[in-house]
Amino acid sequence: MKETVVVEPAVLTEAGVSLELARSRADRLRGIHYTLQFDIPADEQVPIESSATISFELASNHAGLQLDFRQDPASIHSLNVNGTVTDIVFENEHIVLPASLLRQGHNEVALSFVAGDSSLNRNPDFLYTLFVPDRARTAFPLFDQPDLKARYELTLVIPAQWRALANAPLVQTNERGDGRTEHRFAPTEPISSYLFSFVTGEFSSITRQVQGRPMTMLHRETDAAKVARNVDAIFEQHAQSLAWLEDYTGIDYPFEKFDFVLIPDFPYGGMEHVGAIQYRAAALLLDADPPLTDRLRRAQLIAHETAHMWFGNLVTMQWFDDVWTKEVFANFMADKIVNPVFPEVDHELNFLVSHYPPAYAVDRSQGANPIRQALPNLNQAGQLYGSIIYHKAPIMMRQLELIVGEEGLRAGLGDYLEQFSFGNATWPDLIEILDARIDIDLAAWSDVWVNTSGRPHFRVVSSNAQEPAPPLLGQEDPAGMGRSWPQQFDVLILSAAGVDSATLLTGQAETSMPPGIVAQGQNEWLLSADGRGYGLFPAGMDALPAWDRLEPVQKGVALLTDYDNVLAGSVLDIETYFLSLLAIAQRELDPLLLKHVLGQMPYVYHSLLSDAQRDALVTATEESLWTTVVSQPDTSLTKLVFRHYSELAASPGAVQRLFEIWSGKLAVDRLVLEEEDQIRLAEILAIRLPKQSPAIIARQLASIDNPDRRRRLEFVAPSLSANQAIRDAFFASLGDAANRHTENWVSDAVANLHHPSRLAQSEKYVLPGLRLLEEIQVTGDIFFPTDWLEATLMNHKSESAARTVRQFLAQRPDYNPQLRMKILQQADRLFRAAALNDV
Ligand SMILES: [Zn+2]
Repeated sequence: MKETVVVEPAVLTEAGVSLELARSRADRLRGIHYTLQFDIPADEQVPIESSATISFELASNHAGLQLDFRQDPASIHSLNVNGTVTDIVFENEHIVLPASLLRQGHNEVALSFVAGDSSLNRNPDFLYTLFVPDRARTAFPLFDQPDLKARYELTLVIPAQWRALANAPLVQTNERGDGRTEHRFAPTEPISSYLFSFVTGEFSSITRQVQGRPMTMLHRETDAAKVARNVDAIFEQHAQSLAWLEDYTGIDYPFEKFDFVLIPDFPYGGMEHVGAIQYRAAALLLDADPPLTDRLRRAQLIAHETAHMWFGNLVTMQWFDDVWTKEVFANFMADKIVNPVFPEVDHELNFLVSHYPPAYAVDRSQGANPIRQALPNLNQAGQLYGSIIYHKAPIMMRQLELIVGEEGLRAGLGDYLEQFSFGNATWPDLIEILDARIDIDLAAWSDVWVNTSGRPHFRVVSSNAQEPAPPLLGQEDPAGMGRSWPQQFDVLILSAAGVDSATLLTGQAETSMPPGIVAQGQNEWLLSADGRGYGLFPAGMDALPAWDRLEPVQKGVALLTDYDNVLAGSVLDIETYFLSLLAIAQRELDPLLLKHVLGQMPYVYHSLLSDAQRDALVTATEESLWTTVVSQPDTSLTKLVFRHYSELAASPGAVQRLFEIWSGKLAVDRLVLEEEDQIRLAEILAIRLPKQSPAIIARQLASIDNPDRRRRLEFVAPSLSANQAIRDAFFASLGDAANRHTENWVSDAVANLHHPSRLAQSEKYVLPGLRLLEEIQVTGDIFFPTDWLEATLMNHKSESAARTVRQFLAQRPDYNPQLRMKILQQADRLFRAAALNDV
């Protein structure tokens, strides 16, 4: 029997989770406990029957209470509030629990329903949940906001041959006699809803005890040798990260267990679900003899996700406007954690090449966003993610560490973790803790760095023509708002007499450059030579002639500064710059610098050089890079350079060379290609050799052992086709969200459509690609809108493509401001190239 209840008008409902709703629920609710059961069939098409019992303490029952559930209300079978079966009142993605059935104090709500599939990532023989930032509410009804931490008690009923992993330990399994097994997990500690997670399916499992800690890894890799050669490092780096974090924070690992799972084509590098981290399999399972840069990136990723157990999981942002705080701490800690593991690496250089290029890419664009942004509704939280929070924030944090001191920051973070354990905090909470430790006004400092976008432009001016005084260094605010970014960094001076350096503090007033810089032309200088400054710095030296006199981090800064000035359109000649990149690649053996140089090449080569310049340089470029490939001293660097060579190679001779390598006719010393390399080579060849395209793909498909990799190539194959009608049909199919299921595959395929050799045919996809963006933001995971835009725009350079983007935005004055910024960020390189090509 059901009782009909009138809903009190006081309950305001709005789609998503508004800040207002979140604040009112945070005031009223305590002690939330979810008991959840999902009955998962093997067939990914069959619905998942589910139940939830939600208990909580309520401060007052003066109004109804909203549960978040972004699904068709027809998927809810029953609702029981405090023992009374009741009709379902469903408004704007919310189940409204009537005040008349709620009580002050303890309440219990029970529901049975079909779980929503959209964030369960169901595949033929596995699934994984990915609920960040507000997608738990697509799967089951809950209070989906980060500051309503709750205990989750999970039961999964799954096919008997499947494994399962969740946030808490498995406490019991029951064979049900119908080929299905029930897995019951312990209740979690209090955790935020975006951190609740489970994975189940056909996985292999490896359990190890490392430094006294048991850890389990699930994976689906079929190449046993690949697993065997990576597994030690994966377990050890997790254990090392945990030990480091316990020491740094003074807080033992705060959760009951620690496991991780490797997922093929996982859309992020990793996601820090409490006690059950998810990783993109390829990020952890490296090739034989991997480049140092890959090993370093893996270690940083593991350290990043592990650091989240304290920064993000133990202490969580109150609202997603501060999502950047968990990311900055995870990245900042990761840099510190990997430091002692790689004594051979110049960590200042690594910080520079990891963080500065992506941060500058956004901050030099017209779509730059501040680190901290207002967030009126959680359904827009995914839009806050991007290079600014991952890369500019650590740069800012290092400047903050220079002010507060290493020990001061560590002690302040310790207080912060202690004070807000298993709770939530805001950025101002931390600034208040740190502010008490120093003299300067940290709130004002934070205001420029954190709450506003952009970066200063530095300029060097003569001080006084009458006297031989050193010049002055000043900051300009390119936005004309008169801001200055307080910061400190070193300047390097090279002269015939030797090398000198000095530390500069810059802010509001102009700063005197060191006396060593006197007469123009007699010396050269490099600003931010220690790689700590942030802004557009004038180029004070030519990198190539000075190269051998520079330390590794100084080389990185010189390249970064030159590239920045090339893009700013100042001084440097592009062809000369490109030739210097080729020359540096030939002589530079540091893997980080080599990768940095190679990373700058494609855009300069394909987009900034004129067609005539590039045509004249094709042979010289290919042969120079090939010489660089074959002259590398070891297999890891050989492959690093080869990957870049194969993407750039376009002449018949170079493509023929690639074909012979791919087909096994040509063996190259120290070049060892694994299945993923073979597949990428096949894709490149399918584009470069249109007549042989179907045969190349068919042959590659026939030789793939791994089912996940075969499915991927089958998916991207039409994007490689020489037949324009097939590519058109494929692009049109992406208009249906069901065909964008595995987002990595889609990004790869879209990049193939917009390959540099096919721009004339693919420009017509730019406008419909932009039109799809709003829908992609709604249906896709958090990084997908950016990935989609990048794949769409990265190679285009024509004035007409630039005009398409500008008109799209001009015709939509009310367009979502976050998406507008993302478009402007990703179109920055197109706009710059188009302006050059238009001259
Ligand atoms: Zn993170």
